[in-house]
Amino acid sequence: MTTVTDLLLAMPHPARVLAANVVAYRLDRQRRAGRAYVAGRGLIEEYRKCEWNDLEKRQHRLLLGFLERIKHRIPFYRERIPGGTAADVASRLASIPPLTKDEARLAGKGLIDSEMARDRHFVGRTSGSTGTPFVFRLTYDALRCRVGIRDGFYELHGFDFGELNLRLGGRLFVRAARKRPPFWLRDHVANQVLFSIYHFSEGTMPYFVEALEKYNPRYITGYPSAVQLLASGCRDLGSRYRPKGVFTDSETVLDAQRALVREVWGCEIHDYYGMEVGWVAGQCARGAYHISPLTSVVEVLDEGGNALPPGVPGEIVVTDLTNPLMPLVRYRTGDLAVWSDRECGCGWHTPTLERIEGRMDDLVILPDGRKIGRLDHILKSAANIREAQLVQEKLDRFVLYVVPEQGFDRNCEDHLRRDALARLGRGVSFEIRRVHRLDKTRTGKLRSVVSLVGNGDGGNQKDG
Ligand SMILES: [Zn+2]
Repeated sequence: MTTVTDLLLAMPHPARVLAANVVAYRLDRQRRAGRAYVAGRGLIEEYRKCEWNDLEKRQHRLLLGFLERIKHRIPFYRERIPGGTAADVASRLASIPPLTKDEARLAGKGLIDSEMARDRHFVGRTSGSTGTPFVFRLTYDALRCRVGIRDGFYELHGFDFGELNLRLGGRLFVRAARKRPPFWLRDHVANQVLFSIYHFSEGTMPYFVEALEKYNPRYITGYPSAVQLLASGCRDLGSRYRPKGVFTDSETVLDAQRALVREVWGCEIHDYYGMEVGWVAGQCARGAYHISPLTSVVEVLDEGGNALPPGVPGEIVVTDLTNPLMPLVRYRTGDLAVWSDRECGCGWHTPTLERIEGRMDDLVILPDGRKIGRLDHILKSAANIREAQLVQEKLDRFVLYVVPEQGFDRNCEDHLRRDALARLGRGVSFEIRRVHRLDKTRTGKLRSVVSLVGNGDGGNQKDG
């Protein structure tokens, strides 16, 4: 089947720019319009004005109305949602079994409000754990609300929509085989330059940095791994480019990536967490991840489905309140986070997640039963590394794939090995392999920790 992307890829550059702008115009008209967009865009501002007590009451009212509605209209939830009253809406929610992506996929039409589905709506796709794509459907209002919150989030951090920004995302718009620039596209509608992150390499980096200086975008948004590559490129090539701010999404941000952006560009990363269920949480100026109580209910649960107290990592489970077309109630995201019990003090009156620890799939279980979910701890004192990926090949065998920078020598390796073994513990073997690049997922994301134990999936490094 020929898709819009295939058609775009086949076009010569000027025609492609024109076509991409026409598509962008249509999407923009569809997404940045109407009351839902305006309401979404004003939400974080509202979280600054209203007290938590008031927000929580409003959340409970919304949740009650939502559960009542879908219990009556959606076959899948008829039995799943128990009856109840306004007073116990929180415990009523807690009695609904959490929903996995694969369950949602298997439920198919049973999870959809068939009457609403007759109206035009948005259809999105993500990959399921079995590799089968999960198709989700949103009303346009739900979509607009999401775009609105994200825009409002950018705006609160000083993003000015009148200024040019750069996107480093997973969109494919330049053929992989292309060896010469341009590897980018100017979108006049969103006032954006898009860089094709699939073309980032040592050989092409000077072209990218030159384009960066020419366009001089004031903000950067995109995947942390792509931001990292571009920032190290700027540093190595002595670029004087300085953005006002960097916004990241889609992957867990590593402390080393935040430090690099601070060092090279002199600004902070503002990260937000979101997925099929929309914009779930975003970082305030103090770095805490604030949730959005009027669009979703966020829970952190242990493996048995029990709510976890602050300080204890567990799975993020989200109930999306904005999409009655295909409601995801207590949707298991497969991502790990930790509630904070501190009053943030930044001015947003919403609860916060201290940190988001990444995908549960990336969790590595050590022979002694301990779990490691992030590379941060191992890379803390590592020097001269561009990118790294830890792969657990067997229960007791680890390989760290490293894309080295100049100066990465035996000393650095020894240091890294000592640090890694100190954390991985005795009784495991640990090897460092130097590679030119790390392969990303189909959508251009980097998985920083991969376990091949028990699933045989994810080993995608390229030597050479
Ligand atoms: Zn805060």
